[in-house]
Amino acid sequence: MATKIILILVVCRIIVTFGLTLNPSELLGDLRISLNPTELESASHDFGGQNRAEPMAIFHPKSADDITRLIQAAYESAHGFTISARGHGHSINGQAHTKNGVVIQMSGSKQLVEPRVDETLRYVDVWGGELWIDVLNYTLRYGLAPKSWTDYLYLSVGGTLSNAGISGQAFNHGPQISNVYELDVITGKGELRTCSEKQDSELFHAVLGGLGQFGIISRARIALETAPQRVRWIRVLYSNFSSFTHDQEYLISLHSQPSALKFDYVEGFVIVDEGLINNWRSSFFSPSNPVKISSVVGANGGVLYCLEITKNYHQSDAHTIDQEVEELLKELNYITATEFTTDLPYVDFLDRVHKAELKLRSKGLWEVPHPWLNLFVPKSRIDDFDKGVFRGILGNKTSGPILIYPMNKNKWDERSSVVTPDEEVFYLVALLRSALDNGEETQSLEYLSDQNRQILRFCDDAEINIKQYLPHYNTQNQWMDHFGDKWPMIYQRKMEFDPKHILATGQLMFQPNFRTYTGSM
Ligand code: FAD
Repeated sequence: MATKIILILVVCRIIVTFGLTLNPSELLGDLRISLNPTELESASHDFGGQNRAEPMAIFHPKSADDITRLIQAAYESAHGFTISARGHGHSINGQAHTKNGVVIQMSGSKQLVEPRVDETLRYVDVWGGELWIDVLNYTLRYGLAPKSWTDYLYLSVGGTLSNAGISGQAFNHGPQISNVYELDVITGKGELRTCSEKQDSELFHAVLGGLGQFGIISRARIALETAPQRVRWIRVLYSNFSSFTHDQEYLISLHSQPSALKFDYVEGFVIVDEGLINNWRSSFFSPSNPVKISSVVGANGGVLYCLEITKNYHQSDAHTIDQEVEELLKELNYITATEFTTDLPYVDFLDRVHKAELKLRSKGLWEVPHPWLNLFVPKSRIDDFDKGVFRGILGNKTSGPILIYPMNKNKWDERSSVVTPDEEVFYLVALLRSALDNGEETQSLEYLSDQNRQILRFCDDAEINIKQYLPHYNTQNQWMDHFGDKWPMIYQRKMEFDPKHILATGQLMFQPNFRTYTGSM
């Protein structure tokens, strides 16, 4: 079988190189390899819109066994080829690309493997390419839902578990990778293995946050809870950064309290100009609920901070929600009269960013370059970061939302492949900017990319030990710096699970080491 796949891929390469019109499906039997130019083009790009890398072919698996056969072919051949799983292609820097290799299209094949809910043990088994929105819609049929989320649900399970998967619930439940019971993984040697805390635990922890380096997740068993019915969603403003972070840190310190005594979600964002109303995450501030920013801007260089919190509830508890929220808000020090509250179904809250996406798409503003930068900043240096970046480098323009929220490190499992700062509390700072080609210099890709470089340089010079989330590096030395003390473990895991460095070459962490390998990543 391995020889057959290699032969097919060699023919594919010839077809692409010489532009022949031979239909590869005649050669492939039951393996679905596509050379369709539209599909190749689409897999050459991602949400970041800054890199292009064309694969040799696209592979549409019908099962985990299909993936196993493909990887075995690459592994067993001296002339192998590289392979990247692609979820929904929402990376920023080509992380799911593989130039001249094979992209496995994990998402998009509807009901490839039907999800399966266990109502007693409260978990769902899903295909690795399943989108979180579909996981949610499926589990809701049982009145259940996953506990930990990302802000946007059109991301694949395998894609977010390869990073961490974070949102405002992470302070309480940990990231998505802390809410997985079991995985089926196809390693870089083409072995299909079931792993968990107890079984094959090294592989389990390697793959979680593993950036696709150690195996392809074909099935994930995800922890569920009773799905709330409604959400009370509150935003309050601060002009003083210390008060803002003090309150955020206080709220996440309540994580071990009974649910009535804490919020379910804690996030926040920075407002550095009058772009609040234009900010695509801010449809919340509707014209019927206007904020006169100028009336609340303090002596802080015009920067405001918005705390965003929610409380979930069931219809049957509706009579206590007002009081619970009031008690919690009493402890906070936001600017009086800047409290904005709305109440909506749980699903609408979770799917909030999709609404913004539809609006942006209708204006042609979704498929633009996204030079996003996501950083984990240690709590002890968040004030310095504020002075140097929000009130320094950014000037008075944002070009997109800037999220900031703290998390508790004790909700993260040190055995996973993710690296976070070495402090009990650290912040996510997410600069989610869109570049526009409208002649305005401050919105151009070059300008925003340069600002990102300045921010990284500033952190370096000021010795703020940030870690990149959804990291992007170009050399192995940079990756070694990123992983720090964890690098020997990462290296060891790679040697064990993907010794030929076949997988996820778009991360630029390891060079493929086929004996006769001639292509480039
Ligand atoms: P891809 O981009 O397709 O893949 C990402 C990496 O994972 C690649 O290296 C790929 O090879 C690997 N991979 C993909 N599938 C598998 C698999 N089955 N097995 C093994 N490796 C695999 N992240 C958050 O944590 N929180 C957020 O709130 C959040 N919001 C976002 C909002 C938007 C609009 C966007 C575009 C991204 C957001 N992200 C967020 C980032 C997101 O988690 C990453 O982009 C992630 O990569 C998921 O995207 P994807 O499923 O498209 O994966």
